[in-house]
Parts: sequence; C-alpha cells; structure tokens
Amino acid sequence: MDLELRQKITQHTGSEIVSVKPVAGGCISDAFKLEMESGSRYFLKLNYIANRDLFPKEANGLIELGKPAIIRIPKVILSDCSFILMEFIESGAKTKSFAKTFGRKFAELHKFKGRYFGFYEDNYIGSNVQRNIPGDDEKEDWVNFFFTKRLLAQYTLAEKNDFATPDLTDGILEIEKRIYGILNGSAENPCLLHGDLWSGNYMVDDKGNPVLSDPAVYYGHREADLAMTKLFGGFRPEFYSAYNEVYPLTDGYEYREDIYKLYHLLNHMNLFGKGYYNQVMDTIRKYTS
Ligand code: ADP
Repeated sequence: MDLELRQKITQHTGSEIVSVKPVAGGCISDAFKLEMESGSRYFLKLNYIANRDLFPKEANGLIELGKPAIIRIPKVILSDCSFILMEFIESGAKTKSFAKTFGRKFAELHKFKGRYFGFYEDNYIGSNVQRNIPGDDEKEDWVNFFFTKRLLAQYTLAEKNDFATPDLTDGILEIEKRIYGILNGSAENPCLLHGDLWSGNYMVDDKGNPVLSDPAVYYGHREADLAMTKLFGGFRPEFYSAYNEVYPLTDGYEYREDIYKLYHLLNHMNLFGKGYYNQVMDTIRKYTS
C-alpha cells in the first residue's frame, strides 16, 4: 500500500492507519483489513491491473442496495479507480434462523422498485462490463432488456473472445426468436437486484445478520436474482421457502430459471474460458429443441 493512498485515507478518516492485514477470498482484487488509531476498522480492496471504474461502480451499487435499508450493506467510505474503502464487517456465526431471515429480507429487498429496467450507469459482472442503460424500447420491456443487455451482450463478448461456434450462434438466434415465449406470463415491475448473489457475495456479521457484498446492481426481474443463487448452490431450502412466504414466485419460475442462469454461464465462459461452453449449450438446447 503506497504512501499516497495512506495519506488519502488518513486525510479522509482523520486517523492514522496502525495495521494492514490481508483478507483472503477475493476473486479480482487484493483485500485488506485496516485498523486505525481511532479504533475504527476498514475493509480496503486494491486493484492494480484494472485501471477502470470498477470500484466507483461497486460503490454506487452498494449505495443503491442500501437505499431500502432492508439488508445490511457495508458503508462506503471512499473509492476511486484504484481502491475502495468501506466499513469492515466483523464476521460471526450463522444463527439457526439465518437462512429464513435472509430469505425474508431478500424478498423484502425485491419489493423495492425502480422506474425502469436497468440502471443509470453500466457496471461490472465479475470484471466484465454489465450493460444497464436501457434503450427506449427496453425501459418498460423486461424481455427485450434481458435479451439485449444480458444474453446478446455476453454473446457479443463471446464472439470477441472466440467462443462463438456456429452452434452457439444458431442457439442464440433461436433463443432470440423464442424469448417472448420463454418468459411469457412472468411480467413484473423492475425490482432492485443484487445482480451477482452467490455464496461468496454475502457475509454473516457478528450479530448473525446477512450482509451483501460485491454486487452487480440493476433493476430487473427478481427471478434473475434467485436463479443466480441456484447456479452454484449454497442457499438452504429455508431461504427459498421464507422468500416465497414474503413475496411468492409466480407459476413457471422453475421453467424460466435456466434462461436467467444462461446470462451468468455466458459471463463465466467469457471470464474463465471454454470450461463453461457445454453448460451454456445444454442450457440453450433446453429452450430450443
Ligand atoms: P473481489 O471483488 O476481489 O471478489 P470481495 O468483495 O468478494 O472481493 O471481497 C473478498 C472477501 O473479503 C469476501 O469474500 C469477504 O469475505 C471479505 N469482505 C468483503 N467485504 C468485506 C467487508 N466490508 N468487511 C469485511 N470483510 C469483507
């Protein structure tokens, strides 16, 4: 950690840094726990490679997620292109009712509505750009938004990355033809979404409460958020039953779940390589054969 950053943090917080300890678990950035002379603790992420607006966008996402004040979100202290500094979440153990409480809160979060599908700025899903600014014909049309800004955007990236086989191209064209049928009957107003909720993107605080981190926020269909929690698992059945009690899912969700997973599978292929190709194609075939 360089002197300039130390000075910036000291200036902003009014306190000297007394210790810097690495925190494990990040996929993209180097993470640290800072202890200050004042006794405050902060969480710092550094990224030397991505000289982009990754952290300012993460900060804006966290701020948006905090608006309904339903689930605890780390307070952002400061960010720029090379770092993000936020409140340090002291971790604790899950209580017996953790999954139920989390499911309920997640449902309440989804009751917070936006005026249109998308978000006021693009952000990142992992380290790939997530397109959020809707075209005029996408603002009120979730199906169009989801196809164009999620599936097609990832397909375009796959073309650039040389993953677009003729089968993938034909598959995406076929999905485009069928997408209104696939998502038929599920229309809802835009909900506040975490956007990338897998088990590595929530924490348990010292009171046993869930805390959300590392979001890819936008306003969209809540089924997209739930499908992501199912992609790699790690959420207990009580999470889903509690969610359903508070904000019941509509008929046909099970059928639609995989089309929402497809966005993340394409993104994973674009981030991590061809290992995800077969899963991508199996999912496409589910809806096209
Ligand atoms: P990356 O963007 O590199 O994937 P994360 O934001 O996932 O990094 O953070 C890495 C790890 O640091 C997480 O798995 C979590 O355990 C921990 N962490 C994230 N945010 C905080 C925080 N505000 N306070 C304490 N620990 C945190």
